[in-house]
Amino acid sequence: MNFETVKKFLRKDNQPDYRVAQVRQAVFGRGVSYWAEATTLPEPLRQKLEELFPVLSFKPLQVLPSKKGDAFKAVLQLKDGFKIETVLMRPMRGHWSVCVSTQVGCAIGCAICATGKMKFARNLSAEEISDQALFWHQYVKRKNPEDRIAGVVFMGMGEPLLNYAAVVKAVGDISDPDYLGIGQRHISISTSGHAGNIQALAGDLPQVNLAVSLHSVEDEERDRLVPMNKKYPLDELKNAVEKYISRTGRQVFLEYAVIPGVNNLPKHTRMLGKWVREIKNCYLIHVNLIPYNNPEGKGRPDEEAARTFAAALTGMGMSATVRKSLGSDIKGACGQLAAGHSVRPRPAKPNC
Ligand code: SAH
Ligand code: SF4
Repeated sequence: MNFETVKKFLRKDNQPDYRVAQVRQAVFGRGVSYWAEATTLPEPLRQKLEELFPVLSFKPLQVLPSKKGDAFKAVLQLKDGFKIETVLMRPMRGHWSVCVSTQVGCAIGCAICATGKMKFARNLSAEEISDQALFWHQYVKRKNPEDRIAGVVFMGMGEPLLNYAAVVKAVGDISDPDYLGIGQRHISISTSGHAGNIQALAGDLPQVNLAVSLHSVEDEERDRLVPMNKKYPLDELKNAVEKYISRTGRQVFLEYAVIPGVNNLPKHTRMLGKWVREIKNCYLIHVNLIPYNNPEGKGRPDEEAARTFAAALTGMGMSATVRKSLGSDIKGACGQLAAGHSVRPRPAKPNC
C-alpha cells in the first residue's frame, strides 16, 4: 500500500482531514490488512479503498511458527499465482527482524540453497517487497502493540542486486517515516557478489548495510558454490568491496556458510584470512559465520563447526561472529526458502 497515493485519493475524494490519521492508525497502529476491518472508516470508503488500494499486494496463505516461537515463516500468494516466502525473527526480546524475498525463485542456482534449486520466474515489484515488511509489522502489532520491527534484511528468496531498481525503491518505502520508518542503518542487503551493483549501492544507498555471500575464496570452489562467481570472480569482487568501503566508509559483512568438510578446514581459515587482509581498510570487514542449513530441512545446523571456525578467525585478529540460526525447523533459515517449490502457478483452467 502506497500511503502517499492513499492520502492523495482521500483529498481528491473530499474526505475530512482526520481521515488520513484514521487510515494511518488502522494500517500501521492496529495492523488492519483488509479495509473491511478498518471499522473507524465509513463503509462506502472502505469498499472504495479495498477496490483501489488493497493494503497488501498479496494474499497470505499460511504462517508457520517455529517451536521456540522465535521465528515465523509466511507463504504469500502473489496476484499472478506465484508463491514466495518471508520470515519474521526475534533474535532479541521485543526486537523483531524481517527477512524479505526479492524474486520468485533465483537464477543464480547456488549449490547450497533451496531457492537456487527453483527456476527463476520473475522479479518482485517494489511494493511486493516492502509489503512483506508491512505484513509482519501488522502481524507483530496485532500480537503485541508494544513490539516493533527493528530491522529488515534482504536475505530471502532471490538475488536483490539483480532486481536493483525495485530493491532501491522498496528500501526507500520501508525507511519512509510516513510508511514503516525503519532507518536505513537497520536495513541490510545481501548479495551473492554482483560487483557492478555493489558499486551502484555505494552511491544510491550508502546507509544500508552490505552483506556479501562469500563461502569460499577459491575461484574453482566458489564457481560451484556461488555461480555468480563465474561472472564476477573473486578478484573483481574484492575490488568492488574495496571501492565500496573507500566510497562509503562503511563496514562490510562477509557471509560464510560453514559447510563441514567442504570449506572449514584449517587451510580455509588461512586463505580467508589472507583474502580479507588484502582488502584496503580490512579492519572494516566483519565475517558472519552461518551454520550450514540443510536445504531440505533435514538434520540440525552444525553450530559447533561455525563456532570453531569463528574462533580460528578471531584468533587471527579478524572480526567474526556466528549468526544465530533461527527457524530451521520450519524451513525458514538461510538457504531453506522454496515456497514448497511451487514456482509455476497452476492455470485456472486446463489449456485444452
Ligand atoms: N541472494 C542473496 C540473498 C539471499 S540468501 C545472497 O545469496 O546473498 C541469504 C544468505 O543465506 C546468503 O548468505 C546465502 O549464501 C546463505 N545461504 C544459502 N544457502 C544456505 C544454507 N544452506 N545454509 C546456510 N546459509 C545459506
Ligand atoms: Fe539465489 Fe542467494 Fe540462494 Fe544463491 S544463496 S541461489 S543467490 S537466493
